[in-house]
Amino acid sequence: MTTTKARRARARQDALPAILDQGSIDDERMTLFRVLQEALAEPVTKGRGAADPLLRRICQGLVRNSRMIRVACYLIVDEERPVLTPEFTAGMEAGLLRIPRSLAGPLRETLRDRRPSLHVLDDPGAPVWLRALHTLVAEVVLFPFGVATLRGVGVVGVAEAGFLSRIGLDYFAAFTNLGNLALNLRAQALHDALTGLPNRGLYVDRLAHARASARRRRRLLGVALLDLDGFKQINDRHGHGAGDLVLARLGRIMRDAMRPTDTLARIGGDEFALLFVDMPCLGDIEALCVRLLDALRSTRLSLGEAADVSLTGSLGLTVYPLDEGDPETLMRHADVALYAAKAGGRDQYHIHSLDLDRAIDADFRATEVARRALAEGRMCLYYQPIATIDGDVVGFEALLRLVREDGTVLRPASFGAALDAAGLARPLGRFVLEAAACQMEAWVRAGFELEARRPVRCSVNISAAHLLNASFLEDLRAILSAHPLVDPAAFEIEITESAPLRDLEGVRRTLTACQKLRIRTALDDFGTGYASLTHLQRLPVDTIKIDQSFVRDMADDPKDHAIVSGITHVAYRLGLNVVAEGVETAAHIRMLKALGCSCVQGYALAKAMPAADIPRWVRRYAQRRRAWPRGSIVMRADKGGNSRED
Ligand code: C2E
Ligand code: MG
Ligand code: MG
Repeated sequence: MTTTKARRARARQDALPAILDQGSIDDERMTLFRVLQEALAEPVTKGRGAADPLLRRICQGLVRNSRMIRVACYLIVDEERPVLTPEFTAGMEAGLLRIPRSLAGPLRETLRDRRPSLHVLDDPGAPVWLRALHTLVAEVVLFPFGVATLRGVGVVGVAEAGFLSRIGLDYFAAFTNLGNLALNLRAQALHDALTGLPNRGLYVDRLAHARASARRRRRLLGVALLDLDGFKQINDRHGHGAGDLVLARLGRIMRDAMRPTDTLARIGGDEFALLFVDMPCLGDIEALCVRLLDALRSTRLSLGEAADVSLTGSLGLTVYPLDEGDPETLMRHADVALYAAKAGGRDQYHIHSLDLDRAIDADFRATEVARRALAEGRMCLYYQPIATIDGDVVGFEALLRLVREDGTVLRPASFGAALDAAGLARPLGRFVLEAAACQMEAWVRAGFELEARRPVRCSVNISAAHLLNASFLEDLRAILSAHPLVDPAAFEIEITESAPLRDLEGVRRTLTACQKLRIRTALDDFGTGYASLTHLQRLPVDTIKIDQSFVRDMADDPKDHAIVSGITHVAYRLGLNVVAEGVETAAHIRMLKALGCSCVQGYALAKAMPAADIPRWVRRYAQRRRAWPRGSIVMRADKGGNSRED
């Protein structure tokens, strides 16, 4: 304080009215204690409403109880609202304060220094934004408080200059600490404790602001949801501690890959929500999505003694105002797109469109139809024969069918989404395993034998979701022990490439465990996935089933012929059994035999049929076969109308 200032202050103190004699000062100090006590008597809650309950109680209490304090308010500034905003005022209108748009000057110093500062309003040096209060008060103290990016200023104004110094600024230190506490609680209520990222509540708030701002500024806003692929396996395999480390680390990686103005929030276990603000065009938003997914994919995480792991992400995006939804609808659309990104094979982004919405709707309906059919006993298995290339029937593939209420039979194409749907994949899978095991047991009991007198083999299709479910092996073991007549070596499980694409290591371990139980394993629809050969090398499988799309056109398309030839050759070198699917004609069979393919399955032999039709089909097939030269397949023994699947 300069000497002039000090002299002026002393002069003011001398001029203070009698109310400020020592007794009154003590009374005022007691009042401050009482206000604090009453404010704290009510529970401190994590508030994020318009005003913080604790700070509001203090402001009201000071104005109501003190004989000198006429106004009390507090203002907040955070990264979302970079301008000081009054949240609560007592004894005055909020509009009276002329808050600067920038935090330059003494206010910034106050916020930074975190020290209370005293201002006499008729001093020429008093902050301009406070001056309008001079009609109400003569002197103001500012208390800065806050945590990290969330900062606040308490303002207490008194009628007489000099009063605050007489009371002693230390008496107000408690208010600063309570301000810190309140904002700390608020920060906790708005942020995820593990990653420090905004949580769902703050995200939704920011989404609403960003949407309004995009509309005003005529810019695009990207609203996205991102889910880590295969995170559950990290938790299951390495424990929740490792899972937490992965989340915190990947949160930082993603945050660093984004622009500072964008938002990354954690809104669930491994689910993140994003906002790409102020975007000029869709292409730029897509570029940011690509950058983010690249950053995830290229991060290797070390989990102590366990091997390094890397994770990918799936991202669903919708863009306002191309998508004119309200905040809730935008998030729902991003979720629909996320579902499509997952279904499309993960590690990718998908943009929401109305067509997608309708497709998901159809998937949802299909899942509901399947759920009801399963509950009402309207699911069953049909069986399609598999024969060696020389025509010996070796077994059947069990194929799921849904019987509608009107008796029509639907193939999986009509309810395919249900096979991999969360919550339904496992019950459906268990039903299929159980039904197939029952059938195999019935064949053993009935002494049913094929020409080659081997046990009748049965293959079942296992969905990725069931195979990757932690209880899959348990389900399998339970079914085998409930059906002791079933020889596990006659049981084969078929998996498609969607499972290893999700978690190659998990699938490898499950298939190895199956083989230990003597169950055979097959890679279905081989050649259609982009990593087929890698999977063949990494996964313990006994059989490859060449996808029917290659077999169907191999007579006319030299490329398909070359692919079938290549797969057969590789399988032969690896000592694997090869089944060609979709074998429909004698020409197919001849070509496959020339290529060294070991088994065939397709309409050339028979369509899938109910178990009850099998004995008759087998008899007729054997009869017709006897009339043919040895070593050839008999075409469609069921052509007389036996099959119900035409
Ligand atoms: P998939 O496992 O590759 O089964 C072969 C599919 O090809 C069957 O269709 C079969 O009816 C059909 N097919 C067989 N031979 C021929 C032929 O010569 N020509 C033509 N055009 N098609 C032929 P389906 O029964 O409609 O099953 C379709 C897919 O649904 C199956 O393909 C399998 O991936 C899945 N699926 C079937 N049953 C189950 C099940 O119980 N669980 C699971 N998770 N998936 C199943
Ligand atoms: Mg199959
Ligand atoms: Mg197949």
